Amino acid sequence: TPLMSAHSITKSYGRVVALRDVDLTIAAGQTLAIMGPSGSGKSTLLHCLSGVFTPDSGDIHYDGQVISSLSDAKRSHLRLARFGFVFQDGQLLDELPARENVALPLMLTGTSRSRALAQADATLARLGLNDERKRLPGDMSGGQAQRVAVARALVTNPSIIFADEPTGALDQATGHEVMQLLVQTVEMSDTALVMVTHDANVAGWCHRLVEIRDGRVHADRTLKEASRS
Ligand code: ADP
Ligand code: ADP
Repeated sequence: TPLMSAHSITKSYGRVVALRDVDLTIAAGQTLAIMGPSGSGKSTLLHCLSGVFTPDSGDIHYDGQVISSLSDAKRSHLRLARFGFVFQDGQLLDELPARENVALPLMLTGTSRSRALAQADATLARLGLNDERKRLPGDMSGGQAQRVAVARALVTNPSIIFADEPTGALDQATGHEVMQLLVQTVEMSDTALVMVTHDANVAGWCHRLVEIRDGRVHADRTLKEASRS
């Protein structure tokens, strides 16, 4: 059985229909890029899958639960405990050193401060970020801060990482380094990656490409198939 599956999900904002009857399954450890024109529904899909929104109709199943019908409190807890998030930028708290930023998702789910900091240090070390541990986000380059954000997304050992334009604020070379770190780490830990991007080079890090047009899945294939057409 898949790790996550969406069954005929629909989401509107007033009269704007952002998603129409979308079906999607995600296997454990799979890396998937969502692409499509601006306004096609990519962010809405990511937010529905990751439990930020509930769809207007349809169900989302994850690990034996129907997450689209959980209470807000249970869904929030599930998101913190089982999912990791990486955004374009601005996700670290500027007044906290890197290790405390990375420890936050653990502390928010009840891990003690000392244990959370030890796990944060271990995750930073695993990602080659030992030297960043005590630095403040404002003193880092964009690429360093984004690597710390990757560490924060991974610290809870999530089963899925949701990423929205994770390299959108970086130059190409730095974006490449961040994607390499993200993809190597998810592959090593059998974590799934679901990523929205405008950039075909960034999508190229994933095994599967889902194209959204006008709120529907227009194409869903492996990147090998996509690059042949
Ligand atoms: P994408 O991520 O592909 O750019 P979105 O999911 O952000 O697409 O948006 C899909 C459609 O829903 C667009 O027409 C957009 O304008 C609309 N939309 C998204 N968020 C909102 C919102 N909060 N209120 C009203 N309309 C929205
Ligand atoms: P992206 O292209 O990355 O999806 P957008 O600029 O479309 O980003 O959306 C940024 C934010 O604004 C999203 O949180 C989305 O929900 C919201 N949004 C998008 N379109 C509208 C809209 N027409 N009205 C209100 N909010 C919107």
